[in-house]
Amino acid sequence: MADELEQKALITIFGGTGDLANRKLYPSLYHLFTKGYLKDHFAVIGTARREWSNEFFREKVKESLQDIEGASEHAEEFASHFYYQSHDVMDQETYVSLKNLSDELDEKYQLDGNRLFYLAMAPNFFGTIARRIKSEGFTDTAGFHRLIIEKPFGHDLKSAEELNNSLREAFREDEIYRIDHYLGKEMIQNISVIRFANSIIESLWNNRYIDNIQVTLSEVLGVEDRGRYYDESGALRDMVQNHILQIVSLLAMEPPIKLTTKEIRNEKVRALRALRVYEGKEVHQHFIRGQYGNGEVDGKELKSYREEENVDPNSNTETFVAAKLMIDNFRWAGVPFYIRTGKRLATKATQIAIHFKDVPMNLFGNQQSLGGNVLVIHIQPNEGITLHLNVKEPGQGMVTMPVNLDYVHSSQDRMNTPEAYEKLILDCLRGDATYFSHWDEVSLSWNFIDHIAAVWTTTKDHFPNYKPGSMGPKEADELVQKDGFAWFPVVDE
Ligand code: NAD
Repeated sequence: MADELEQKALITIFGGTGDLANRKLYPSLYHLFTKGYLKDHFAVIGTARREWSNEFFREKVKESLQDIEGASEHAEEFASHFYYQSHDVMDQETYVSLKNLSDELDEKYQLDGNRLFYLAMAPNFFGTIARRIKSEGFTDTAGFHRLIIEKPFGHDLKSAEELNNSLREAFREDEIYRIDHYLGKEMIQNISVIRFANSIIESLWNNRYIDNIQVTLSEVLGVEDRGRYYDESGALRDMVQNHILQIVSLLAMEPPIKLTTKEIRNEKVRALRALRVYEGKEVHQHFIRGQYGNGEVDGKELKSYREEENVDPNSNTETFVAAKLMIDNFRWAGVPFYIRTGKRLATKATQIAIHFKDVPMNLFGNQQSLGGNVLVIHIQPNEGITLHLNVKEPGQGMVTMPVNLDYVHSSQDRMNTPEAYEKLILDCLRGDATYFSHWDEVSLSWNFIDHIAAVWTTTKDHFPNYKPGSMGPKEADELVQKDGFAWFPVVDE
């Protein structure tokens, strides 16, 4: 008899020998195992083209747990639930043996026909796999059938629609879990609590008190070995369409009437519908793109983007985007949401800075300026919030000084923070799609992005236009300066 915590399922991972499976999925499943969410009634099938035995696969799974403290204790037992099936997803016949193995494991582990299919493969295979799952009868079981897919979800609205249609031939919308791993991050999920559990925050969360909001997702690394994919994608599609617009929608949405998947999603969709779509010249005014050149960082000479492996030497692909978004509704009219993301920047961090309006006048004499209050939400590498306030400097006179009220997780606490993938896989096993992207959100985001991309493909910028180790091109600074603001410093401690 399974206990309440335990989730029963057969988890089939397409792309079971790949990087994502090894680095993220197996360690995440292991954590679910040690916490009792996966126990006796689960099995994992890894599939890929290589000819591996179950034993060899289990060794690989155990190797993937090497960095987890104390993992050796339960690794053997955990890995014993793993099975390998050599399988070319384009080849109809191998689905038969995969199906037989699935049915066998279903019976052996008493899984009640619950099936989770994880597509950890290139998206061009998604449609074929979904169709075969349906046509070969994998979903003809009594339990649940859920599909988890990785980004990118299309290249534009049209290709995303085609992909969605092919998935929908086999799965209902409520069975499709589109991963946006940012949504699994602790502090992204905390946005709702910070907003809706604190009256002093939610009552100020509007255009009467907020001056501007800034979202930064900065990376220090370049494209590494992802040149082929990235050169077709660029920062706009790789980061803005999904992660950044998801974060913006969580910040901008109205309070949902209940914290259910459907109600939260409805509010996020309404926020995205209010996002002002830019056309023609407006794109150049409100969107800045950049591409990193070569340069020295920490005594090391780094290549320019165009010199990276598998990148066109004349590439016009952006590795940096900054933009001013406007949400045209009563709550946000007039409040810019500045966003920026890029590779080879000075720091690796994800941070949201909510800038409150200045007090109406400075009562404190001839000091230059009282810094405005800022609420910073640190998403990574630190997790927490910092509230920037002004207080009196101790001593004579009325001199003000800034202080920070911090709630930032120490690295000790962070070890206990579940990884985004762990949370999301558990959500999927439980049937909770709140922190996955719904098709309505994906399609609205693509519609917005397509308008930007349409203008950018017809024009060229003078690339490269920023140095590694900087925070992007100077135009990104000018974008906020011309509105009288500045980017809030990004902290990576
Ligand atoms: P990968 O290239 O390391 O792995 C791909 C897997 O697919 C391998 O197991 C390979 O054997 C298998 N495969 C390829 N062709 C096959 C075929 N015809 N039949 C059966 N198996 C086949 O890729 P990855 O980095 O693990 O990424 C997988 C997916 O996850 C991609 O959609 C990627 O965009 C996405 N993703 C990856 C990461 C990451 O950290 N690696 C992060 C976010 C999203």
